[in-house]
Amino acid sequence: MPLRAKVASSVSRTAAALSRAAGRGDGSVIGGWIGLKIDPDLLAHLAAGRAIALVSGTNGKTTTTRLAAAAVGVLGRVATNSFGANMPTGHTSALAKAGSTPYAVLEVDEHYLAQVLEATEPHVVALLNLSRDQLDRAKEVAMMAQLWRAALVRHPDVRVVANADDPMVVWAASPPPSHDHRANPPHVTWFSAGQRWHDDSWVCPECGSTIQRSGEQWWCTGCPLRRPQPQWTVEDDGVLDPTGAWHKVALQLPGKVNLGNAATALAVAAEFGVRPVDAVSRLASVTSVAGRYAQVEKEGRLIRLLLAKNPASWLEAFDMADQAPTLLSINARDPDGLDTSWLFDVDFAPLRGRQLLITGDRAYDLAVRLDVNEVAFQHVRTFAEAIRAVPPGRLEVIANYTAFQDIRAELDRVN
Ligand SMILES: [Zn+2]
Repeated sequence: MPLRAKVASSVSRTAAALSRAAGRGDGSVIGGWIGLKIDPDLLAHLAAGRAIALVSGTNGKTTTTRLAAAAVGVLGRVATNSFGANMPTGHTSALAKAGSTPYAVLEVDEHYLAQVLEATEPHVVALLNLSRDQLDRAKEVAMMAQLWRAALVRHPDVRVVANADDPMVVWAASPPPSHDHRANPPHVTWFSAGQRWHDDSWVCPECGSTIQRSGEQWWCTGCPLRRPQPQWTVEDDGVLDPTGAWHKVALQLPGKVNLGNAATALAVAAEFGVRPVDAVSRLASVTSVAGRYAQVEKEGRLIRLLLAKNPASWLEAFDMADQAPTLLSINARDPDGLDTSWLFDVDFAPLRGRQLLITGDRAYDLAVRLDVNEVAFQHVRTFAEAIRAVPPGRLEVIANYTAFQDIRAELDRVN
């Protein structure tokens, strides 16, 4: 590395360590920020010489990054931003902290994919899904797909691993028609990770016609855009690879959603030459991801924490939760987004018939939604009150960002 980059990298590590020591989180944002101030090209310098995978999408990227890092770990040491700092400051900090590693698997905020592609020149990019997120901040879904597509057109050599079940992702990963017959189409490997949430992909991003669905198939009624045949699919409790071999996947993470994430991770690792048979056992080493899926026992209740931050991830949380008493907690602080009207986009009917508790700053917004949805519930003011209100056994907790952090903090206090 050039001297300036070496100095910047060293200062970045020190700043992150100081911030950690001061109890201000993991320090990756401040460390990366200072490093990039000293050398604006620091991320590119740190990325050079590593084989890199980027993982992006609205949901599942933290978990998939963890699983992919475990799978690529078959080959050697892997740098990764495991705590969800998924913007260039976080990537810079993660690579500086890891020192020299042959591989890196980085989670990338979908808005920063073009910039991070440019800086890191990855070997492979995994595109998971695109759906509506924080209403007061995020871009329109079709606009995000357009940005991804333009970024991939500028990097025709990157290998793409993409979700065949999401029309927006398929369109972003498919090059626009080229009149230059010498231009190579990008190398795309399709996986099937499912798509529970369809409300952001009824309209074709290519031609504006309606998208129709039947079973797992989807197609545009006005142009050739349709579901490509996936090479990696989930079958029963395992994953089918492109050769047709089936691998049992024993995960510590719940739900079919995470089997899809495992299929994606194996597909990413395969782009580095990792055989699924060698990687699959390593996926079971991932237990909780930044506190998500963590299980804590308290007063005879086995409490499991699920994060749900936008409509699509609420549907995924319903898929993961057992049929057991469930606490929902909703805040609307800055990291959550201030607008809670998205609650009306979610169908809470799957929760009917179980004991349902609600809490959080915006519990009353949730109460109105559940009432309209004809789902019975009980309001509790605190987490402790929720624990007392349910019988011993499983308690599922589904919460959005800061509500999730509040409950984690409360559990840390009592344990
Ligand atoms: Zn179309």
